Amino acid sequence: MIDIDVLAIGAHPDDVEMSAGGTIAKLVREGKRVAVVDCTRGEMGTRGTATQRDGEAQRASEILGIHARENLNMQDGNIEQSEENIRKVISVLRKYRPAIVIMPPEHERHPDHEAVHRLCRTAYFQSGLTKVETHDSGTEQKPHRPKHMFCYMQSYHFEPQFFVDITETQEVKIQSVLAFSTQVHVPGTTSSNEPETFISRPGFMELLEVRARYFGEQIGVRYAEGFTAVKPIGVHSMSVWLE
Ligand SMILES: [Zn+2]
Repeated sequence: MIDIDVLAIGAHPDDVEMSAGGTIAKLVREGKRVAVVDCTRGEMGTRGTATQRDGEAQRASEILGIHARENLNMQDGNIEQSEENIRKVISVLRKYRPAIVIMPPEHERHPDHEAVHRLCRTAYFQSGLTKVETHDSGTEQKPHRPKHMFCYMQSYHFEPQFFVDITETQEVKIQSVLAFSTQVHVPGTTSSNEPETFISRPGFMELLEVRARYFGEQIGVRYAEGFTAVKPIGVHSMSVWLE
């Protein structure tokens, strides 16, 4: 059992960096404890091998400064809503005991992203049930239900419910994404011989920048990331905006 403030879950190594890297780097700078869980090793990816992506995830974790990262070894390209996969997610929720989970959105271009959204929703609920038993290294885990579940944005646009100012960590986010050098175009390098994908085009990095810039503009800062909440969100008083 490791107490973590925020747990970020992604289908593939690099999903979390691209979608919420700035928010995570900022939490770490504020002294919060953040863990990342990747559901697959990305072994079905068009470019790079699973081993290369393990190394890239390790480098990206160091750049973001997160406290833990692990891989659930689900089947890339075919993440099933199986009892086994639900248990794997429950197990990490109970191990890290986060107050906040950040996860993929409901409607997405890649079916694995949607699958992880559904797994998180089911696991979130079941994780709070005493009668659902899970074990970590032979020890029975205690129930845990995080306070909040927030979805980051991937390929498809949705209207965010709130934005996080990432002006001071946008550059760290970009560096963490560039750590996945088999997946994205790294400026100044010759293009690889591997087939081009949606995210390996030079234009993809531009898209990350443009979106963060546009979201920043929405709240009067330079860069921001947008999120939506699974559960309705409220504040204890309007005074939170009088800071
Ligand atoms: Zn992905």
